[in-house]
Amino acid sequence: AAKAAGKNCVRTTGEALDRVVDRRARLARDLPAAIADGGLSVALQPVVGVEEGRVLGLEALVRWRHAELGDVPPEEFVGVAEDEGLIVPLERWVLGAATAALAPLLAQGHDLKLGVNVSVRHLQAGCLADDVARALAASGVPASRLMLEITESVLVDAEDRVERELAALREAGCVISIDDFGTGHSTLARLSRLPVDVLKMDRDFVAHIEHDPRAAAVVASVVDLGRTLGMDVVAEGVETPGQLAALRRLGCRFLQGHLLGRPVPVADLAAVLVGPVGGALDGDRTPSHV
Ligand code: C2E
Ligand code: MG
Ligand code: MG
Ligand code: MG
Repeated sequence: AAKAAGKNCVRTTGEALDRVVDRRARLARDLPAAIADGGLSVALQPVVGVEEGRVLGLEALVRWRHAELGDVPPEEFVGVAEDEGLIVPLERWVLGAATAALAPLLAQGHDLKLGVNVSVRHLQAGCLADDVARALAASGVPASRLMLEITESVLVDAEDRVERELAALREAGCVISIDDFGTGHSTLARLSRLPVDVLKMDRDFVAHIEHDPRAAAVVASVVDLGRTLGMDVVAEGVETPGQLAALRRLGCRFLQGHLLGRPVPVADLAAVLVGPVGGALDGDRTPSHV
């Protein structure tokens, strides 16, 4: 019986692997058309200022609803795009769509920044600064409104080319942030040399902030580090009022997460900008924090 089960197990694993390979091949085959023919969309998630008590920014997050497979997680198809040489066209599309969504909000008088995630492959390709310039020109969005989010792990041993591209973007007036900060082992020496304005603290720290004193201590030291280096610190993945209270107590001024607002389609943005964000912050405003 054990032998049969073992055999069975091997066969099942083999089939599962086939399915993974099939799915990946399917995504790789269908992604170019999705990029070219309007198959993608962006969702925008608010970033809230604790002191300002309002939405200060929006992060653009790419979405793909596949006709047969349904919603594909971005972490899955962004990886496929990176491997298939499709990340540059994908991110060009996101930059265009996100800046086009921001422009009318700025025209209405909303004071907002836009965060766009960029892959290190796009930096390595050497055309990111040009692609950004083109999206800004087409939409009329000023460079100072655009924040480029780069995952920390890629900066650990970034080549000169990547650093030059980052410097060019910053020279042009864009804001540079390190995403998932705290997971990538960048050294402090390196961090202080990089042209970076914002640290987006990985949501893992936030997730444990209430019950793990060590996580809270790490958050406190990242906030301090930001202050020392003159960088703003954004907490990602804020889900509960307890996390919000702890972050506020530790001096973290910028928050993002489901508690403050989920990513929404462009059509729903107006509601987000007048929505219940203030409520989430007010709920926590107790005398002890004053
Ligand atoms: P990220 O840049 O760190 O984005 C934050 C992710 O956390 C988003 O996942 C967001 O929906 C999710 N999130 C926000 N608040 C909460 C919360 O309170 N709790 C939890 N559990 N999650 C929360 P999403 O949209 O699935 O995107 C995943 C990742 O895919 C992003 O992580 C980013 O690295 C990547 N990505 C998305 N769009 C792009 C893009 O245009 N280009 C590139 N290169 N990567 C992208
Ligand atoms: Mg991000
Ligand atoms: Mg992140
Ligand atoms: Mg990420």
